[in-house]
Amino acid sequence: MPNLETTRTRAVDLSAASAAVWLAATAFLALLALYFVGIDQGAVSLFGSDSHVHEFVHDARHLLGFPCH
Ligand SMILES: [Zn+2]
Repeated sequence: MPNLETTRTRAVDLSAASAAVWLAATAFLALLALYFVGIDQGAVSLFGSDSHVHEFVHDARHLLGFPCH
């Protein structure tokens, strides 16, 4: 039988600083995803002439109405 004192879960950190870090990280990742889906293309692409990222997100690009071809 497990010891109840050692299996107790820790409290969730709900402080404002922690919330701000999570919000900033989430916003950064969301903007990064939005950039690669909607904007990264052609001569200004971060990966030059390699179109793997563009092709991978191509359907999402059209679904969201970004200009493409
Ligand atoms: Zn397209």
